Amino acid sequence: MRFPTIPRVEDYAQFVGREWVERIHKLARPLLGKRVVHVNATAYGGGVAELLNTNSILLNDLGIECGWRVLIGSHSFFKATRKMFDGLQGKKVDLTPTDKRVYHDYNLRNTLINHLKYHDVVIVHDPQPLAMIQFYKRKCAWLWRCHMDLSQPYKHTVTYLRPLINKYQSAIFHMPSYVMKGLKTPAEIMPPTIDPLSPKNIPMNQKDCFKLLRKHKIPLDKPLLVHVSRFDRWKNQLGTIATYKLVKNRTPCTLVLIGDMATDDPEGPEIFADISEKVKGDPNVILLTERNDFLVNALQRCAAVVFQLSLREGFGLVVSEALWKETPVIGTPVGGIPLQVIDGKTGFLARNREEAAKRCLQLIKSKTLRKKLGKAGRQHILKNYLTTKELEDYIKLIKRHCPK
Ligand code: UDP
Repeated sequence: MRFPTIPRVEDYAQFVGREWVERIHKLARPLLGKRVVHVNATAYGGGVAELLNTNSILLNDLGIECGWRVLIGSHSFFKATRKMFDGLQGKKVDLTPTDKRVYHDYNLRNTLINHLKYHDVVIVHDPQPLAMIQFYKRKCAWLWRCHMDLSQPYKHTVTYLRPLINKYQSAIFHMPSYVMKGLKTPAEIMPPTIDPLSPKNIPMNQKDCFKLLRKHKIPLDKPLLVHVSRFDRWKNQLGTIATYKLVKNRTPCTLVLIGDMATDDPEGPEIFADISEKVKGDPNVILLTERNDFLVNALQRCAAVVFQLSLREGFGLVVSEALWKETPVIGTPVGGIPLQVIDGKTGFLARNREEAAKRCLQLIKSKTLRKKLGKAGRQHILKNYLTTKELEDYIKLIKRHCPK
């Protein structure tokens, strides 16, 4: 197993052709030496870290000086920003005066130790660092990129955050239906993507996959159902477990739920405890909290079905990752999932657990159907959701906003 620890732009020619490599270099040429910086809340755990890991390196490879800053925050800061995240995804949350003060103070603290005034473009991700903008005298372009499911946000959270978003030169959303109502700042659309060369997505042969799964005591004698997600209520691991219970009444199967704990996610341990309680005593359910890209890779490859029955989902990189590995996904029709799971073509959309279980049984029974959907899934991701596309989108975005 070999993967480039430091990816180069030309490594991607194998997926999108040499013309793309030439085109991207040409596109980046006017930006040589420009300074860009990404700011987000965590270096691992969740999709944003995943994107930045690849994007920041590839921009540097193109000669654009791209930095990446990760916020420093206390437990109470991340509890407050967790409320904002939940509010933006539609939960009625109460942002207390203490939450607001902690949020303000930590944004100021991070401002003092990050000198974001020497850059041409600053790209801030999600609500955690959103408020830093107010502490800078802006000479460069500040852009805000939101990775959340904003289909039905809680109005009080929007009212609180919108004035901050309006200070940005542009706000970037995954899809048009996420554009926040009443925003004064211009909105742009840019969906996220996966890196086919990251340890999580590089090719792994069956022997290596099986070896890794055996090492983690994952049995290979029954169809494998897999759910990869942070332990977060929106991800609906409980819905996956309920679906698995319906499936196992009809056919033997193993369910693996894997989720690492992100530093900006204070509720993870509590949710993990609830889930553990629900599956206690069932030897066919395996719960893993290990942070291990190769294990995620092997699981997504060996699964008969990958579940993503989220209640809200900004985009769902885990769906792209599974489809890329030719594994069909059963997902709920929420957020970014239907952009990837085309019902009956790359997987199935399920509105409830009965529907999900029915589709799961259908897929377990038919290897032909799994193969057919899997192949279509990979093509769909290749065409629309590979990092090469996002790199191009980023360069165009930087070009539009970079001071001349
Ligand atoms: N992930 C992981 N290990 C885990 C759980 C998640 O590496 O145990 C990764 C997953 O493979 C994906 C990202 O975290 O790359 C999650 O991104 P997604 O867009 O699906 O959801 P988010 O966490 O950003 O809401």
